[in-house]
Amino acid sequence: MSAASTMLSFHCSQCNYDLAHRLVGELCPECGTRIDSIGPRWWDSRCLARISRFALLASIPCYALLLVPALFLVEIGYWSPWGWRGMPTLFVFFVLLPMQVCAQAIATWKLGINEVGEARKRLLRVFALIRLSIFVCAVLTIVLYFYFVLSSQTNLMRGGIEAFFLLPYFLLPLGAVICDIVVSRVLVSLRRESMVKMSVWQTVTGRISRVALYGVYPLILIPIYGWFLAPIIWTIAMGGCFGELWVVARAAQRSSSANTA
Ligand SMILES: [Zn+2]
Repeated sequence: MSAASTMLSFHCSQCNYDLAHRLVGELCPECGTRIDSIGPRWWDSRCLARISRFALLASIPCYALLLVPALFLVEIGYWSPWGWRGMPTLFVFFVLLPMQVCAQAIATWKLGINEVGEARKRLLRVFALIRLSIFVCAVLTIVLYFYFVLSSQTNLMRGGIEAFFLLPYFLLPLGAVICDIVVSRVLVSLRRESMVKMSVWQTVTGRISRVALYGVYPLILIPIYGWFLAPIIWTIAMGGCFGELWVVARAAQRSSSANTA
């Protein structure tokens, strides 16, 4: 992530004239409107510090989760220094996943400040809670599934239990992906409003991240390969969405400190 290639551009609210390199209090050279801020309401150092902090808090655990498939590949290979196949992968998974889910929920909630506007604040907070609830439901579902399957007496009972659990199997990931798509839309709306000029690389990776989220759910339904690939794409995409906001907030912090200097 190179934040260095980002530069600020902003436009007149009345006539859209490019106001780059102009200061608050000056007049728009095109229509004479006084420049009252160099961006949206959240464009002050306190909000930007908060946004960059929580965008980073959400982004890093997404990438850290990639350790799970990396370990998995090592373990299914011929080389397994621990002897217990599958255990380190599962252990790291059970530690990192709840950390990532909690970090994302906290960050999404904390990004919902008044300055981003009432509608976005509500979306961020509501979907942070829904996302966390879905994770808790998923954990409970898996525990109940193993409890009932292991205690089932007959094949018929077992089949019935498995059929019953198909519903959460289809619905819970769908809900989680929808939450993340909504959050990614809110995050990109902040980026657009900021009018920070991104590098081509940042623009392309940001767009790929958001588009990839739509592919996660269909992919996750494909056994084995999908189960393996979809979470990787999912976590990289969310890391990219939060990472993009972090780049924007960092660029804005630099440009506002340059403006006040
Ligand atoms: Zn103007």
